[in-house]
Amino acid sequence: MDKSPSVYLFHFRAAMTDHTPDHDPHCVFCKIVAKQIPSRPVFEDDDFYAFHDIAPWAPVHFLLIPKIHIPSMAQVTQAHSALMGRMMALVPVLALQAGCRPYPDGGYRLVTNTGVEGGQEVRHMHFHVMGGPRPWLRG
Ligand code: AMP
Ligand code: ZN
Repeated sequence: MDKSPSVYLFHFRAAMTDHTPDHDPHCVFCKIVAKQIPSRPVFEDDDFYAFHDIAPWAPVHFLLIPKIHIPSMAQVTQAHSALMGRMMALVPVLALQAGCRPYPDGGYRLVTNTGVEGGQEVRHMHFHVMGGPRPWLRG
């Protein structure tokens, strides 16, 4: 992979000209972050919120979202790399806290639906974390 400075400058410029707002007043997950819609919390810090899915597929099924409004994985750029790294590293900690059994006999599924053909319904980037004893309702 080319790691020349010009590549990073390209991504930085792309991020700087991306006018995606940090908050979308019409977005259901932004409303959940703002506590305008109730949810059952799993975890919260300055940058992330995790909450139980309202229609779980599995005994454990929670959603982990960045608090800033990133519509989907399709809008993630190098400018988000630190944020995405922290989001990824939260998954194993929160999965165990939420009741997934330890790897390798336990484990979980990590899913990020992206766009219409990816099956995304809520346009605020999120990780589904699903686990617990089989069978599951779906998946
Ligand atoms: P996706 O299809 O990947 O966009 O997933 C959206 C997920 O959000 C679905 O699994 C829904 O059940 C879940 N969901 C939608 N509204 C809420 C809500 N108000 N609280 C919790 N989960 C929700
Ligand atoms: Zn949002």
